[in-house]
Amino acid sequence: MDLFQQYVNANRDRFVAELQALCRQPSVAAQNWGMKETAELVLARLQKLGAQARLIPVAGGAPVVYGEIGSGARTLMFYNHYDVQPPEPLDLWESGPWEAAIRDGKLFARGVSDNKGNLMCRIQAVEAYLAAYGSLPLKIKFVFEGEEEIGSIHLPQFAQENRALLQDVDGCLWEAGYKDVNDRPNVSCGVKGIVYVELHARGAKRDLHSAMAATVVNPAWRLTWALATLKDANDTILIDDYQQHVRPPTQAEMDALAAIPYDEAKVKTDLGIPAFLRNLTGIELLKKYLYEPTCTICGLYAGYIGEGSKTVLPNHAFAKIDFRLVPNLSPDLVLDLLKKHLARRGFDDIEVILTETGEEVARSPLDSAIVRAAVDAATAVYPTPPVLYPTMAGSGPMYPLCQALGIPAVGAGVGWHDSRNHAPNENIRLADYFEGLEFIRELIARFSRLAN
Ligand SMILES: [Zn+2]
Repeated sequence: MDLFQQYVNANRDRFVAELQALCRQPSVAAQNWGMKETAELVLARLQKLGAQARLIPVAGGAPVVYGEIGSGARTLMFYNHYDVQPPEPLDLWESGPWEAAIRDGKLFARGVSDNKGNLMCRIQAVEAYLAAYGSLPLKIKFVFEGEEEIGSIHLPQFAQENRALLQDVDGCLWEAGYKDVNDRPNVSCGVKGIVYVELHARGAKRDLHSAMAATVVNPAWRLTWALATLKDANDTILIDDYQQHVRPPTQAEMDALAAIPYDEAKVKTDLGIPAFLRNLTGIELLKKYLYEPTCTICGLYAGYIGEGSKTVLPNHAFAKIDFRLVPNLSPDLVLDLLKKHLARRGFDDIEVILTETGEEVARSPLDSAIVRAAVDAATAVYPTPPVLYPTMAGSGPMYPLCQALGIPAVGAGVGWHDSRNHAPNENIRLADYFEGLEFIRELIARFSRLAN
């Protein structure tokens, strides 16, 4: 056992306790709950590590916790976030979301997988590296934001205002990564973009007796008719001019799919679904998953949904919809196409509200040094070989923080396929967490040696 592992073993209980303490501090950005306290907790932990750390305020938002440590020819950035999703619905949690209880080798807490486990893992790995080897072979910059779960609304501004801090960064380890249903760690090189809107249909001034439905408009019907024009039953997005902006994947991008061992049977069993959309399998399934845009009704509300019947003509109906974007769709373009599409069909009475600033698509070159270092490190550490994904199916602020500044980024982390991000009983397996510490050690060592 080498010095790094010896140090980790000797400090195992404290490392877990530190992660629990961080998880016990609520930090729900959507409710502005505990943000300042959590930022200060994370700042104190970076200072304890010996990093030059400070809070960088962002106008009107939660501060970025920024830290630097080490020196060398290369600079590695760790991007993470200390905010978490709201914990609701509370009654579905087996132990409280802020309890950080440990059962069956798993730590259960809101935010432990997304993203506090990864955040703490990286700090502790650097601590163990320093304790074991005396110094770091490169410079590390920590960028921990507090608004990821509300769309990183101020991160583009942060990246612009702090260009000088970021200009020497050679590569970024993105916030997270997960083991798949066969325990293969996923390493991913990009994110889809996203834009999130609400569609509101309105009728009379107030709810009415449903006898009035013979003569008065029903916004619930208006909304569903409008929604039905956005996508067909074959899951094809029908928004006018939408598909012409979807850049087909290159040959290299398709080749990358061929190397992904996606266990369709296990995923279907895990999710409890008989088949994937369009009965897709193989490369075509992966192509749709990673390289095609989505249009998702995330929530739909109108009228009376309580017990028993209530004959009411509602006066308001609304839907929350997200669009996941691939090259060359952008949030602004999609919003514009959506509004024009609805207006052309006579749905200009339906109000389209942009509830969050969108996020752009980002992709890092598969042959960049940070990607190669991450794949090599994962291969060295994990019992099962990693799988390289050209992009995640999810989104994040990779464009403003990395791609716009020419910084390649790669995602890897301590989650697993049943981590239940954003859902009740969010968890990580502690064994994955401790493998994650070694992964960071390997990444630091390998990235410091690789040429760009
Ligand atoms: Zn999240």
